[in-house]
Amino acid sequence: MTQTPLPAEDQKQKHVIGCYDCGLPGPILLAQGGIHGNEPAGVAALQRIVQALEDGQIRMRGRLIAIAGNLPALDCKQRFLARDLNRRWTEQDIQKLEQRSPDKDDTEDQQQRELLQIYRACEAEAEHGMVFVDLHSSSADGPPFTCLGDTRPNRRLAMSMPVPMVLGLEECIDGAVMDYFNRGGHASIGVEGGRHQDPRTVDRLQAAVWHLLVAAGMLEKKAIDLRGERAILHATGGHLPRVVEVRYRHVISEEDEFIMQPGFTSLDPVNAEQLLAHDRRGEVRSSEGALVLLPLYQGQGEDGYFLCRPVRQFWLRLSSLMRWLRMDHLAYMLPGVQRQKDDPTSILVDPRIARWLVIEIFHLLGYRKRGMRGKKLLFARRWANERTARLGKSTAS
Ligand SMILES: [Zn+2]
Repeated sequence: MTQTPLPAEDQKQKHVIGCYDCGLPGPILLAQGGIHGNEPAGVAALQRIVQALEDGQIRMRGRLIAIAGNLPALDCKQRFLARDLNRRWTEQDIQKLEQRSPDKDDTEDQQQRELLQIYRACEAEAEHGMVFVDLHSSSADGPPFTCLGDTRPNRRLAMSMPVPMVLGLEECIDGAVMDYFNRGGHASIGVEGGRHQDPRTVDRLQAAVWHLLVAAGMLEKKAIDLRGERAILHATGGHLPRVVEVRYRHVISEEDEFIMQPGFTSLDPVNAEQLLAHDRRGEVRSSEGALVLLPLYQGQGEDGYFLCRPVRQFWLRLSSLMRWLRMDHLAYMLPGVQRQKDDPTSILVDPRIARWLVIEIFHLLGYRKRGMRGKKLLFARRWANERTARLGKSTAS
């Protein structure tokens, strides 16, 4: 069966699950589900939220815009058709896409063009700051958690939920949509809700979005049953470490024939040398005692699993203090560290001179490792724009 392609405007509209506002000034919360087509829970959660807001005519500041990501992949219930749509959102990727003729587009290129139009329209409208939230689910059972680029507004929004916060995932995954919004100075958070087909995943993602609406100062706590929503998240995520940091990503390709050992769920503790998986070369064992994250139990995907470790409260407080004192801006004064001339958000670290400055120190200052430039380590960080920095300050917990 052949289908006549719809005009561009209709295609764009199809992504929109719903918009809600009461005409009161405030931030924009752009909430996206289904950037991966086998993750329909986020879309379902957003449908419920828009419905509940409309039914209750709930008073809200600002505007909620709920969208679905990869429409053809959602129809086929597959993570993607040609390529992962949650990649290639770096500046260079977008430039390349826009310079190329749409005739050469694969399914995801076309989806990316449509989403890009929506993102830009939201950014242009966001006079009072903007929060982007990307809702995901996974192939394994597991507790809900948030992941984010480590800016202070992102931290504050994520901390409003009683679930673990995962730092450093975005350092491993280049060009995710979240990165696009961080780069624009907006707040940007990913929420992982649990297993794809588990109905509780929809409940948790819904609870996460309610929390963000409150934390961003858009909804009053009493406008919804926040305590009930909190209990939903706390039931599965409350007993886990508050903040963990990704230390290792096990990258796989199809040729690896990677098969995860059964029974792992996200944030399960594993010992050094513990058997985690098999691939064509044999056994895959854990390189260290850690917590396993996002073990892969589906065909598509390039991450076998991640390993992470809890970050102690002491370091979190110290890093908040250092940033409050604006010491993060002075990192380039340290020995062996220099500013990138063409990009003020990046620094180069000479590992021979700055040997004692472990990567962790730069992480705490909000920098993320971006790779190597010659023999030097390239670290980059993003600052939230001023509107974002003020988000929900009066009401956030
Ligand atoms: Zn996903």
